[in-house]
Amino acid sequence: MVKKVKHSSRIHLKQSAYKANLNFIRKKIGDHAVFSSVVKANAYGHGIEAFVPMAERCGVRHFSVASSFEAEEVLSVCKKDSHIMIMGIIYEEDIPWAVEHDIEFFVYNYDRLPVALEAAKKVGKPAKVHIEVETGANRTGMPSKEFPKSLRYLKKHSEHLIFEGLCTHFGGAESFSNQFKLDMQHKRYKEFLKVCKKEKIEPNVRHIACSAAALAMPETVYDMVRVGVAQYGFWPSPDIYYHHLQEVNKTSDSALKRIFSWKTDIMDIRDVKEGEFIGYGTAYQATHKMTIAVMPLGYSNGYPRALSNRGQVLIHGKKAPIVGLINMNLFMVDISHIPNVKVGDEVVLIGRQKNNVINVSSFTNTTQLLNNEMLSRLPAAIPRTVVK
Ligand SMILES: *Cc1c(COP(=O)(O)O)cnc(C)c1O
Repeated sequence: MVKKVKHSSRIHLKQSAYKANLNFIRKKIGDHAVFSSVVKANAYGHGIEAFVPMAERCGVRHFSVASSFEAEEVLSVCKKDSHIMIMGIIYEEDIPWAVEHDIEFFVYNYDRLPVALEAAKKVGKPAKVHIEVETGANRTGMPSKEFPKSLRYLKKHSEHLIFEGLCTHFGGAESFSNQFKLDMQHKRYKEFLKVCKKEKIEPNVRHIACSAAALAMPETVYDMVRVGVAQYGFWPSPDIYYHHLQEVNKTSDSALKRIFSWKTDIMDIRDVKEGEFIGYGTAYQATHKMTIAVMPLGYSNGYPRALSNRGQVLIHGKKAPIVGLINMNLFMVDISHIPNVKVGDEVVLIGRQKNNVINVSSFTNTTQLLNNEMLSRLPAAIPRTVVK
């Protein structure tokens, strides 16, 4: 879609930072495992349309999404030789579409197999299925009692059904306090692998590792890893970060780099007299004569309302504190301490400006939002641009 009119904010994705993250993750997982880039939730807010081609320029050819809807978005921008895998919801009526486009999908119920078979016959192409097994997260996952008959079904219909993968997902790999649960899940996964051996049918790829597991549990890296949060430059948790620091014997490390920055520009500037209230209600009263700048975005544009009276933005490399409530599409910041600010000057909402930086985590520390939650809620309408 050609955008003729300027949007009130913009997101930049830094390709060199992404490449560095890929190299770092590759070192952790070794040479042979396929790297599947998890781009659900509009690539964790980074924007599928810009992110997927950037990842492809860095060599990525496998993408995982949560729904057939997201798969369609990836399909519309990816290269012909890229693979797409749906890990979550795909409606029965969309299965022929997936088969038609070689899109792989998770199957977690025996009943799905005849549906996939029918779609494959109808389309005249084999369906590539990943059997997701239940190992202890009790989310989606095929129970062990349905597994042997599913394998026999796959074997019987191998002309139309490709047993592409056997997988599971850890419930909480980012926290070491869950280690006993992760070990149990991994043990159960190995039981499923044994059943495959017994039934003499093997998946093409075995995959269970998400970011945290790929970075900290090398024994979980089989033939493929499904990496989301780490590729965007975020440590999955402090546990995983400290685990890495111990491994490399350092006290800090910036191996993972944020690729994302979010900017806007100043809409208006005004002076406010001492004692005046700023914005809606009485949430902020000027304690002295102030100069404030008006920002052309608000909570409807993904800027968390919880940052009312507590967040900060960067202007001329200096922190400008938010004054008053975040409105639906406006908020105000105090610039009394920053000289020579003009309407139209660049404002950094997240990212670096001169020697200062505002991280997603500084947002989320004060608001209880998860990094992933904040990022994934950024509206798709904000334009995303890749920069070197
Ligand atoms: C989201 C997701 C991932 C990626 O998780 P990260 O922790 O972001 O790496 C992997 N597998 C499945 C099934 C997922 O839903």
